[in-house]
Amino acid sequence: MSAVSPETQAVRSALSVIGSVEPAVAAAITDELTAQRESLKLIASENYASMAVLLAMGNWLSDKYAEGTPGHRFYAGCAQVDRIEELAAGHARELFGADHAYVQPHSGIDANLVAYWAILAHRIEAPALERAGAKHVNDLTEQDWEQLRQELGSQRMLGMSLDAGGHLTHGFRPNISGKMFHQRTYGTDPATGLLDYAALRETAREFRPLILVAGYSAYPRRINFATMREIADEVGATLLVDMAHFAGLVAGKVLTGDFDPVPHAHVTTTTTHKTLRGPRGGMVLCQQEYAEAVDRGCPMVLGGPLAHVMAAKAVALAEARQPAFRDYAQQVADNAQALAAGLMNRGARLVSNGTDNHLCLVDVGSYGLTGRQAESALLDSGIVTNRNAIPRDPNGAWYTSGIRIGTPALTTRGLGTAEMDVVAGLMHEVLSSTRPGTTKAGTPSKASYELDSALSGRVSKEASGLLAGFPLYPEVDLG
Ligand code: PLP
Repeated sequence: MSAVSPETQAVRSALSVIGSVEPAVAAAITDELTAQRESLKLIASENYASMAVLLAMGNWLSDKYAEGTPGHRFYAGCAQVDRIEELAAGHARELFGADHAYVQPHSGIDANLVAYWAILAHRIEAPALERAGAKHVNDLTEQDWEQLRQELGSQRMLGMSLDAGGHLTHGFRPNISGKMFHQRTYGTDPATGLLDYAALRETAREFRPLILVAGYSAYPRRINFATMREIADEVGATLLVDMAHFAGLVAGKVLTGDFDPVPHAHVTTTTTHKTLRGPRGGMVLCQQEYAEAVDRGCPMVLGGPLAHVMAAKAVALAEARQPAFRDYAQQVADNAQALAAGLMNRGARLVSNGTDNHLCLVDVGSYGLTGRQAESALLDSGIVTNRNAIPRDPNGAWYTSGIRIGTPALTTRGLGTAEMDVVAGLMHEVLSSTRPGTTKAGTPSKASYELDSALSGRVSKEASGLLAGFPLYPEVDLG
């Protein structure tokens, strides 16, 4: 009889304890593992954290309030939280070569909010206090306070447009950043699909933003952050790089020199759960000048820190400092290139004709489909992707003309470049066999589609057959 692994014991025991109180939660946790094991996950922003990362979150560190920073808390009894936060921040500084790391943000959106307010505090509020001879905002007269509020609310931000791959938090109206800042965008060159630095420089010179944001959710190429910093310096902007998507490639030294944001950006924000393969959360790295303002993230915009998640961040960052993580990051990039080549060799059109990070953007217009139709047809065939706008998208942000695919999750499962070609073949077969459907009234529809169910069933089987050779959480056997 084979021995039961410690991970299996841990998960079985946890599920039994949870199930004794609310069996529906234990059942949902179990079913989620089954679903994740069976799906061919190409969502570029998702990954699978290690069992050590997951287990670090499920404990009584969650019970503690610890507003403030290590050694400077608004609550007593925070010695262990201090220890954990210092450990995670130390790992982050070492891993990324940052002056300062703030590991409290609960998510990527929160990390960006902390960063924006830190920049406003440093560049707008601090000089206003100095002018008024005040130490604290509470010391300002009503008149000075009102003037400062007006100033804080009238600053400018320049970020990448959504259809070029930017993120809602980079100054777009549905997010609070778009309500806080006057915003303009930059984009890509229509001929190459690459970021147009010359046009960006022009816009920056004319618009003179307080904050220049670089970073993306759906741009398949490297960004030259040395050039970005040069542009920011020329117009007196603070350079903020949101590396939420590609932090793992920075940690794993795939993106180095001009393509590593940390030495160039004044402030770098990230999530910890995408390519970095940690728990769901965020982080802010910054140059020393911004450290004090960044550390005021809680209570400025954040609630009390999640000590259990900071513990998991410390574990994930320790993992990312191991040599094996560099192999992983390189494999993520190699796999993305293999997937791109596999699709292009079969006739697919990719935005920018390829990738040099972890993601590709397929223009499914080349298959006569909208992103919505392609996403659904692939899902029917056991392949999980998400639709995404492409530059100058004729179908807008809801139906879109693109499919975003990424390799971080499949690489964690152990799939390599040979398997990426198989995945590309399956995707191409589904996309080239899908036809746009019609509405009930018989007019063309951007959502419905026609796909032979025998074909989608066969592709699903082939996808799960492929995955069977690369078990997810093989150390966990739920019986
Ligand atoms: N920034 C970028 C570039 C992202 O792609 C995302 C998430 O997709 C975020 C921020 C927000 O992260 P979260 O969902 O953790 O708030």
